[in-house]
Amino acid sequence: MTPCDATLTLDAAAAIRWDVVVIGAGPAGSSAALRMARHGLRVLLVDRGTMPRGKLCGCCLSTAAVVELARLDISADGGPLARAVPLRRISVAAGGRVAPIDVRGGATLSREALDAGMVAAAVAAGCEWLPQTTALSIDEQTDGTEPWVSVAVRTSRDAGTATIECHRLLLATGLTDHVRFSREASPSTARTVAARSRIGIGGVLPATAATLPPGELLMAVTPVGYCGVVRLEDGRIDVAAAVDRHALSASEPAAVVRRIVSEACGSRTAAALDGLESVVMRATPALTRSAPLVEGRHRLVLRVGDAAGYVEPFTGEGMGWALAAGRLAAEALVNSDSTTLAPADIAADRYARSHARHFAPRHARCQRVAAGLRLPRLVRLAVRAAQLAPWAARLAVPAVTGSRASQHVMDRPPAGAAS
Ligand SMILES: Cc1cc2nc3c(=O)[nH]c(=O)nc-3n(C[C@H](O)[C@H](O)[C@H](O)COP(=O)(O)OP(=O)(O)OC[C@H]3O[C@@H](n4cnc5c(N)ncnc54)[C@H](O)[C@@H]3O)c2cc1C
Repeated sequence: MTPCDATLTLDAAAAIRWDVVVIGAGPAGSSAALRMARHGLRVLLVDRGTMPRGKLCGCCLSTAAVVELARLDISADGGPLARAVPLRRISVAAGGRVAPIDVRGGATLSREALDAGMVAAAVAAGCEWLPQTTALSIDEQTDGTEPWVSVAVRTSRDAGTATIECHRLLLATGLTDHVRFSREASPSTARTVAARSRIGIGGVLPATAATLPPGELLMAVTPVGYCGVVRLEDGRIDVAAAVDRHALSASEPAAVVRRIVSEACGSRTAAALDGLESVVMRATPALTRSAPLVEGRHRLVLRVGDAAGYVEPFTGEGMGWALAAGRLAAEALVNSDSTTLAPADIAADRYARSHARHFAPRHARCQRVAAGLRLPRLVRLAVRAAQLAPWAARLAVPAVTGSRASQHVMDRPPAGAAS
């Protein structure tokens, strides 16, 4: 039995009031749950799915994501980083030209391996795990003393329902956040979606679908969107694209992906994505969005990861941002004695401050890159320049992706290897 199989019953989950309940077991939720469980808090991690599970994602860990994972110290005994493949080259393609750029510090890893590994690490740290359970609605309760949060949930195991109680709630539900708030819990749940936001589409193809070598990311850019193609650690080919909504009104997602790759790189590469039309394609809602960081009259609910806001994925930072948000939320929620919860107001203010400091400049840079990608001449010029001066392109990568040259965890030998 793997740690992910060690699940709680719904009745057991509803029987106690948890210190923290985390809804959503992506990188944001799992990293927060893991950290808070290590502080000795009673933490419940809930997800509507099971592990391992796939997720629409480019599956490229940025340098910052690799550093965040290394900080979690979960790589021993085959943890997620131990399986990741170092990313050595990004080939950017536009208008039929391809510019290969050598890179260091990042990695590729399937979401099955990353997310299941993170949940297993959280369970090993003492967190309880409740899969196949969907959070439906959130309410705040008080009996005149300390307020608490109640979450109505339904399990897909036997369609049973229950109410789970906690002192603090983390919403780490990603982009598809359908959890309802009672009027008491949240007087205003203003979410904003950027007017021209693209949407995500993608799928995973068999290993034979393309000849792409491991450690190389093909990034195909066109005016209607862009698409990343990469070989995963188990050999399969991951395809993930961000496209204009209108492109999907007349064509199937697979046809849109094939058109992007074909236009950007030339038809030979596109034809090499064998079987693209027969894989199950996933889709996301609008990608560039934001939602309130702190919810509820008593400020007991914090949003982390994509649930708090996201900017489209060209720079490949979403998982790193999610891991960092989980860390910041855990640091804000736990007192400096490191075993008890900080008062709600202090935690909420601390989280809002550290979140703004960390993410405002990153989101702004990413938004500038996204705007530039909508200018075809600029993109073609950049690819041409990268072809002519690969050394300059290499130097420009950190400015685009925000990675720091000093952070090269993937260059180090795995833990325990002979020096
Ligand atoms: C096309 C595309 C390509 C991308 N490429 C990259 C890339 O190469 N590199 C990168 O770093 N990032 C990439 N990203 C972004 C990355 O996938 C996300 O930013 C990251 O997964 C966010 O993590 P999270 O934990 O916030 O949310 P998620 O990973 O989305 O996890 C949310 C979890 O919440 C659960 N959930 C949702 N609602 C409920 C509910 N009501 N009850 C219970 N559980 C619920 C879901 O089942 C899910 O497990 C890409 C995104 C897209 C769309």
